[in-house]
Amino acid sequence: MKIMPNRMDRGFYMYQKEFEDKALDVLRSGWYILGKEVSDFEEEFAAYTGANYCVGLASGLDALWIAFRLLKIGTGDEVIVQGNTYIASVMGITINNATPIFVEPDEHFGMDPGKIEALITEKTKAVLVTHLYGMASRMDEIVTICKKHNLRLVEDCAQSHGARYNGQMTGTFGDVGCFSFYPSKNLGAFGDAGAVVVNDEALAKEFKIFRNYGSEKRYYNKVVGANSRLDELQAGLLRVRLTHMDELIEERRKIATRYAAELNSPLIQLPTLALGATSVWHQYVIRCEERDRLIEYLNEREIGTIIHYPIPPHLAEAYQYLGHEPGFLPITEHLAQTVLSIPMYNGMTEEEQTYVIEAINGFG
Ligand SMILES: *Cc1c(COP(=O)(O)O)cnc(C)c1O
Repeated sequence: MKIMPNRMDRGFYMYQKEFEDKALDVLRSGWYILGKEVSDFEEEFAAYTGANYCVGLASGLDALWIAFRLLKIGTGDEVIVQGNTYIASVMGITINNATPIFVEPDEHFGMDPGKIEALITEKTKAVLVTHLYGMASRMDEIVTICKKHNLRLVEDCAQSHGARYNGQMTGTFGDVGCFSFYPSKNLGAFGDAGAVVVNDEALAKEFKIFRNYGSEKRYYNKVVGANSRLDELQAGLLRVRLTHMDELIEERRKIATRYAAELNSPLIQLPTLALGATSVWHQYVIRCEERDRLIEYLNEREIGTIIHYPIPPHLAEAYQYLGHEPGFLPITEHLAQTVLSIPMYNGMTEEEQTYVIEAINGFG
């Protein structure tokens, strides 16, 4: 049986008719940019997260860098960010010429709140938390630290749509929650798309102005902005998928529960959640000291896996200029050498799950 690490086609066929009907509606409407689908999606996604406002943007990276731009964080400022994140989180900081200050993760892949305060300096302006793999980070401790030191708090929720900490949705704890709707994300579009959620009305308005060349009224440009609009087609398709989020999350939770109950190889370590956190299981990430041998073993059985991520941002070629050497973040670097995302996707059959479980349990 051939099993891919992710199957976006399954997620489409689950609601094929609804997606196709919506796509045709939008195509026939004659209105393709910043119309009713976008404003309806913004309302519905804000309501879904519990935030006051949502602003649709062109991508998750745009959500991140525009967030720091509008929070006026730039040259000479430092932003504390976890070492084990996708590099886009860090680019959101450095596109604005601010400096990323890396902090190690805790044992749940989230930002380790106990290690933040030692990194705070005069220059520290914000903390950027990534709810990696769909697992909520320990937000109560992080919020307390940010309040105490008067720091801005931005959340990278590109992998955590619907994940909660103490019942509250990720993305709503700080100043800005940044979302990606890249097709492979849990709430995935059929192309690039992103959004922010915020509680502050003035800030929401600034995002709306910035995404459209800095203009509130057409051809009256207040600031130098960007072209970062969510389009009508993607917004319409996202609205369809959003109505099914609860069942989509539940399906992933069931697969994760089965993995946790049945995977029993002594050579692997299963993911665990922080107290009070939920996961929407964007990825199911195991750890294995013999990871590369495990990948090969699974490949021989036609089971695809992915490493999220093999090179931590501080060691990426793009960030050589920061001057960090291997060994700078031992926990992050050890994770990069041992983590493995095993197949997890909506529409994964029980037979496929069983095949993966039996294969991994046979690894010795
Ligand atoms: C996908 C992702 C992003 C970037 O989103 P795009 O829409 O691809 O720009 C940012 N951060 C994390 C953690 C991601 O997984």
